[in-house]
Amino acid sequence: MRLKAKTVLVTGGGGYIGSHTVKALQAAGYEAVILDNLVYGHRDLVENVLTAELVEGDIGDRALLDRLFSTYSIAAVIHFAAYAYVGESTANPIKYYANNVCATLTLLEAMIHAGINKLVFSSTCAIYGVPETLPILETHPKQPVNPYGQTKLMVEQILDDFDRAYGLRSVCFRYFNAAGADPVAQLGEDHTPETHLIPLVLEAAAQQRDAVSIFGTNYPTADGTCIRDYIHVSDLADAHVLGLDYLLQGNASQKVNLSNGNGFSVRQVIETAKAVTGCPIKVLEEARRAGDPPALIGSSDKAVSLLGWQPRYPELVDIITHAWRWHQKRHGWQRSDSKFL
Ligand code: UDP
Repeated sequence: MRLKAKTVLVTGGGGYIGSHTVKALQAAGYEAVILDNLVYGHRDLVENVLTAELVEGDIGDRALLDRLFSTYSIAAVIHFAAYAYVGESTANPIKYYANNVCATLTLLEAMIHAGINKLVFSSTCAIYGVPETLPILETHPKQPVNPYGQTKLMVEQILDDFDRAYGLRSVCFRYFNAAGADPVAQLGEDHTPETHLIPLVLEAAAQQRDAVSIFGTNYPTADGTCIRDYIHVSDLADAHVLGLDYLLQGNASQKVNLSNGNGFSVRQVIETAKAVTGCPIKVLEEARRAGDPPALIGSSDKAVSLLGWQPRYPELVDIITHAWRWHQKRHGWQRSDSKFL
């Protein structure tokens, strides 16, 4: 007899990391119910690719949450739904504190009310601020330099208190730079507006934009440009399944970095994208972007030792190849002579 699959609520399951995680959950035998207000999530991916149950609404809607938790037998929640534009969070912090903190609090209250005590939470390396040491370990001081990072740190702190008071067990994953796409191009990154380096570089390769800007060429790095730790979104997704398994086995709350462990400079990203796409990419060298540390590299040793996580796609060439395939398919970019396709 086939055991009934455990059902997991995935908030923000129509978004970039959420949708890849739903796919990984399904592959691991879990059933996912998605709660997404579709402000940034994609209905077509939920309905046509994931074919998961979609509840359209806000994480701050308590009546909706109560209905949802009494309708479905939810074993745990994976909480992605949040705003995540660093620049916008600085210009409009109310929006970020209201959604990322206050609405999350409503979700947590509803979970506790419904007796659901397991949560996997999307946190970020932005909680560390400007690194004092590299690679960044989970114990590194937490000094966010923007409201987005503050909101994520606040939720982590709320979760510490809720663990003690209500027995709510959580795994907070602190992501470094999520990148790439589903290797078979069913899912990928599709942000409006797009601010992330790799999709912008690929848009320039596909001549969807004139050029890509390099924000700062005089950093104290080997080639003068910023170094970031790009982690494949499908590897992130795998870690969420392992984090969920870990909680469902009755284990204690944890904070865990998810990173590649390798840093790549902006110029390395652009050179790799040229090789992958076979296209020229026009570059504009511009001033530094405010608040950008020269290098961010995380240690994922804890994810490996605690959860048995192993990234499948640590190579930048794979990350960019998968992103390129997805963007070509999603946007109908015609370029059949790319040697990696
Ligand atoms: N970056 C850049 N040009 C762009 C976008 C980003 O040079 O058009 C740089 C940015 O300064 C950072 C790196 O690329 O060093 C990654 O930026 P992204 O916005 O993708 O992620 P972040 O590290 O800010 O989360």
